[in-house]
Amino acid sequence: MKVLVLNCGSSSIKYQLRDMEKDEVIAKGTVAKIGEPGSYIEHETGGKKTRREAVIPNHSEGLSLVMKAMLDEEHGVIKDLREIAAVGHRVVHGGAAFTEPALITPEVQEKIRECIPLAPLHNPANLAGITEAKKQLPEVPHVAVFDTAFHQTMPEKAYMYAVPREFYIQYGVRKYGFHGTSCRYVSKKAEEMLGSSSDRLKMIICHLGNGVTLNAVQGGKSVDTSMGLTPLEGLIMGTRCGDIDPGVIFYLHRRANLSVEELDKILNKKSGLLGVSGVSNDMREVIKGAEAGNSRCKLALEMYAYRVKKYIGAYAAAMGGLDVLVFTAGIGENSPLMRGMICENLEFLGVKLDGEANVKTVKAEGVISSPDSKVKVLVVPTDEEKMIALDTMEIAEKVKKI
Ligand code: AMP
Repeated sequence: MKVLVLNCGSSSIKYQLRDMEKDEVIAKGTVAKIGEPGSYIEHETGGKKTRREAVIPNHSEGLSLVMKAMLDEEHGVIKDLREIAAVGHRVVHGGAAFTEPALITPEVQEKIRECIPLAPLHNPANLAGITEAKKQLPEVPHVAVFDTAFHQTMPEKAYMYAVPREFYIQYGVRKYGFHGTSCRYVSKKAEEMLGSSSDRLKMIICHLGNGVTLNAVQGGKSVDTSMGLTPLEGLIMGTRCGDIDPGVIFYLHRRANLSVEELDKILNKKSGLLGVSGVSNDMREVIKGAEAGNSRCKLALEMYAYRVKKYIGAYAAAMGGLDVLVFTAGIGENSPLMRGMICENLEFLGVKLDGEANVKTVKAEGVISSPDSKVKVLVVPTDEEKMIALDTMEIAEKVKKI
């Protein structure tokens, strides 16, 4: 079965065509700068990349180019669009309505639309992708896989904010969490690696990418997560501040005369590693800066690791213990330095790194704790597209049987 995975942003479409039996990515690519000057499509297959500039005014045109690229005589990978058996769509916000992936029906599309106020930048683009893909591939099942769904198992005490209850009832103000597809994939993979799927297994997943999520997973279920109503809450990220005293916002509004829009932009786009280091939102650049003696870069690294460490302590306390600590995403998979800084002095929790294994495990899965470590520490490369494709295949097969 060939499954097309689509991740539509406001000005981009990321796609992968996967052969499910062979567990292979047949082709992948990006349509970028949709509706902007300089738009292009980059298509990759068999290790060869091609790039074509084109006028791409909207998602409809962008998707047509994706289909053309896949059918292309020279760089294509299929002869007929009917070879695509199903389409999986990444959808950022499913609110409280979706606890698992869903076959896309008009009712499901309507519910995704109702979640737009919760993700005004993402859900409209996800919906545009769904509408267009359904037009261009009308015969096959389309499946929505939600970033928020995995976290719907959190108990009320973890997802409620201590604000007047009417804000929850009227406006859905609560913690939803994100990166759920990545966390679900990584937690399953970690269980496979350990050969253990006990319903008591206590796991903390550190998804450390441009966006950062820490996730407490007990018996395979998300019980707490660091992002909130929006992806701004929690850890220090590339450009996002993570947890701050909400009073900072009112203080800056009054004292520095900054509007809500300006503060929104500052806390989302100019803070985090970038704001602290003054150098970059890219962890590699911040590490380079610190190594060259830049004190703000050093502070950024220390703050980053300290915050992750505090969340690990908090989630271990929330679960009443810890069996497995997992690192994933760009920084988690590639930075032994950051993993080492985070795990330093966590021996009291039973975390003991194997220094050599930590340094060696880059862009690969592996165990990086020492054999006598009570907590197993793992590196698990995440693969959200694969998870979306697997979910899509499962639903497509059920639809076929009906
Ligand atoms: P992601 O969002 O998962 O693609 O992760 C992006 C982040 O991973 C960026 O901050 C990169 O700087 C970081 N990253 C990628 N490779 C490395 C590396 N070798 N060392 C440190 N950080 C890295």
